[in-house]
Amino acid sequence: MSDGTIATNGSGKDSQPQVENVIVVGSGPSGFTAGLYTARANLNPLLITGNDYGGQVSITYEVENYPGFPDGLSGPELVEKMKEQAEKFGTRIEFDYVTEIVTERRPFVVRTASGKEYETKSVIVCTGASPRYLNVPGEKEYTGRGVSYCGTCDGFFFRGKDVVVVGGGDSAVEEGLFLTKFATRVRIIHRRDELRASKILQHRAFANDKIEFVWNTVVTEITGDAEGKVSGVKTKDTVTGEEGFLETDGVFIFIGHLPNNELLQGKFHLDGDGHLITDSKMRTNVPGVFAAGEIMDKVFKQVATSVGQGCAAAMQAEKFLADLEDEGFPGFEDPREFVRVEGMVV
Ligand SMILES: Cc1cc2nc3c(=O)[nH]c(=O)nc-3n(C[C@H](O)[C@H](O)[C@H](O)COP(=O)(O)OP(=O)(O)OC[C@H]3O[C@@H](n4cnc5c(N)ncnc54)[C@H](O)[C@@H]3O)c2cc1C
Repeated sequence: MSDGTIATNGSGKDSQPQVENVIVVGSGPSGFTAGLYTARANLNPLLITGNDYGGQVSITYEVENYPGFPDGLSGPELVEKMKEQAEKFGTRIEFDYVTEIVTERRPFVVRTASGKEYETKSVIVCTGASPRYLNVPGEKEYTGRGVSYCGTCDGFFFRGKDVVVVGGGDSAVEEGLFLTKFATRVRIIHRRDELRASKILQHRAFANDKIEFVWNTVVTEITGDAEGKVSGVKTKDTVTGEEGFLETDGVFIFIGHLPNNELLQGKFHLDGDGHLITDSKMRTNVPGVFAAGEIMDKVFKQVATSVGQGCAAAMQAEKFLADLEDEGFPGFEDPREFVRVEGMVV
């Protein structure tokens, strides 16, 4: 086609429903980047936002480590800039939630909570992850005002301050160790009397003068001061039931991170923690379905890395569609035929 777009199996007939080239699922950093790149490749992408527009960044008070913004900017501001840039090149954005991706046929069918159905030749899954919340009073209110779910992102703001870390696994201890670079004291509050973290991390934490442990304790409430910032945590001893209070400037919560994989279960290869498995080219086990961001990455989990993965997935989707066009869209005449891509495990 002269404009560089990929032909649909609608053969240009108005009565035929349009087949999308690519649907991006999710509106976090990886999703908007996948939208931007596929739009600039003339693929006319459709991006479906999900219920958390902007993803995790939208609940981030300030982002200081995303290159290009030396003065930092608020999470919602960054989301708006990403959206604006993706839309500028033609990404169409739908505020909806994907409930199903039918992969047993070509083109795929994407169904949404509002009852819409789209046919598409490829999908980029960018559904991200959500931190597990404590669900105690004060947690939502003080998020970004002393409550954080990311030491790498927010540790810097706690230079010379006192913080507590909630959790006892690898993330809690690793992030607790990281926070000692900034904070004067890091108290790790754990509901049991021993850690789940790996032995090596435990040794490092026990040997660190700035780290103290508060065993057999849960946080029941996060309190704030007159300026609306965290002032401390109310606690309860899990053995004696005794209630207490710890004064602190920051509460870092690391009690788990859950990939948003509801949509993917049963069809896609997931790892033991529920992350979507991809190869180095961002391909899932279903040819034509790619993934980026925290749905497939459990190591780096940053805006910058999610953006990079979104870019890579988009470039791969573009290549996939170009190859498909060269082959004359095999399988599209007969939707029951499943097209396999060489080298993929299905
Ligand atoms: C409090 C906090 C502060 C942070 N601060 C920083 C920071 O300062 N710097 C930094 O680099 N990183 C920071 N991070 C991490 C960063 O936000 C994430 O790494 C990044 O947002 C991951 O991007 P993502 O595209 O994978 O998905 P996410 O941001 O997780 O977004 C996922 C998107 O998928 C959508 N979705 C989910 N399911 C569906 C579905 N079924 N249908 C349609 N859409 C769906 C959601 O609505 C959402 O829009 C922070 C994280 C948190 C929680």
